[in-house]
Amino acid sequence: MSETPVRLDLSASTRGRRGKPPRHLADLSPDERAAAVRELGEPAFRAKQLGTHYFGHLTADPGQMTDLPQASRDRLVESLLPPLLRAQRTLTADGGTTVKTLWHLFDDARIESVLMRYPHRSTLCVSSQAGCGLACAFCATGRLGLLRNLSTAEILEQVREAGRALAAGEVPGGPTRLSNVVFMGMGEPLANYSTVIAAVRRLIAPPPEGFGLSARNITVSTVGMVPAMIRLADEGIPVTLALSLHAPDDALRSELVPVNTRWSVAETIDAARRYFDLTGRRVSIEYALIRDVNDQAWRADLLGELLTARGRGWVHANPIPLNPVPGSRWTASDPQVEAEFVARLRAHGIPTTVRDTRGSEIDGACGQLAADTAPATKGRAARAAVPAAAGATAGLGDETDDEEDR
Ligand code: SAH
Repeated sequence: MSETPVRLDLSASTRGRRGKPPRHLADLSPDERAAAVRELGEPAFRAKQLGTHYFGHLTADPGQMTDLPQASRDRLVESLLPPLLRAQRTLTADGGTTVKTLWHLFDDARIESVLMRYPHRSTLCVSSQAGCGLACAFCATGRLGLLRNLSTAEILEQVREAGRALAAGEVPGGPTRLSNVVFMGMGEPLANYSTVIAAVRRLIAPPPEGFGLSARNITVSTVGMVPAMIRLADEGIPVTLALSLHAPDDALRSELVPVNTRWSVAETIDAARRYFDLTGRRVSIEYALIRDVNDQAWRADLLGELLTARGRGWVHANPIPLNPVPGSRWTASDPQVEAEFVARLRAHGIPTTVRDTRGSEIDGACGQLAADTAPATKGRAARAAVPAAAGATAGLGDETDDEEDR
């Protein structure tokens, strides 16, 4: 049944084969920033000014840094705010409120990010790696293999650019702020652990150290790397953890999510429960519903039993109608089958919200990010074949959590 060879590659060098991205402010600690500024012959307080522009005003444009002397601006920006992302192509959907951007990095590695604006929030889905080494059978990114880990600044530049575009009124609906970030783009965030944690810390620190987002509006989604999940719980940062489960039994999960051969379903759910115990944040269980593969009623019951066996009120479920991936025979479950799956989870007392398929017609939905430059393969017709679930309110990564401000 598995359509891709099982090949696990967790060992990207942190900076890629062709060297490091240029030095960037967002990669440096406050002390390192001050030191870097002094090395350029500038007073240390310029580091704070630069941080205010970058994290507070979302700009790396020297023309906007009018509180800095002209010569200093150019020197500081050239040395500490080099461009790391080049927009190669932008696709929009939903009247312009869903925007997928293909970025080229300094070494021509490619990544994608997807911005989704909703009435009361705006969510950016960021990439944490170029490609992915986890080889999940139904995921477009998984077919690429891992090219390299991104740097902290490469992750944060995706965020700054989205925040800037929203603040500048470039997304229909008037100027607004970026409120949510989900690590659900290309890559496995916990396989690039220290870089992702550094990025999360910068996301939540207030300017001039970071973007000042709320930790509870940040979601880290993992395929289930158990030791890293436990490490994340110990960090004491109350981000939301999402676990990509996709099957409640080891036999099937090992086919769909090959990393399951290392950490079993039981170990993975135990780690998710521990995350709740240590952070108080309800964990989200992601489950792509694949027709006749993992959508049987008995699997819904088994999932419900596994989750409730570890207590109540600690978890919610986020079934995702499978988004089509080129070259795969798999499709989303029938709507009635999906409804039955959801009803059974709810009957077990698991709050359950079907995620919408926003972005699917621009290959921008979950599991469709493959960073190719060909035009999107699907049009409205294909989207119609994957009906939006009744009552779906959540976007990519915005698992409905009733505590959440939306
Ligand atoms: N590597 C991380 C984050 C990226 S994927 C993870 O696995 O969690 C974000 C979510 O999209 C995951 O739950 C992933 O399993 C899911 N996904 C992947 N391919 C999909 C597809 N074709 N249709 C629907 N969801 C998919």
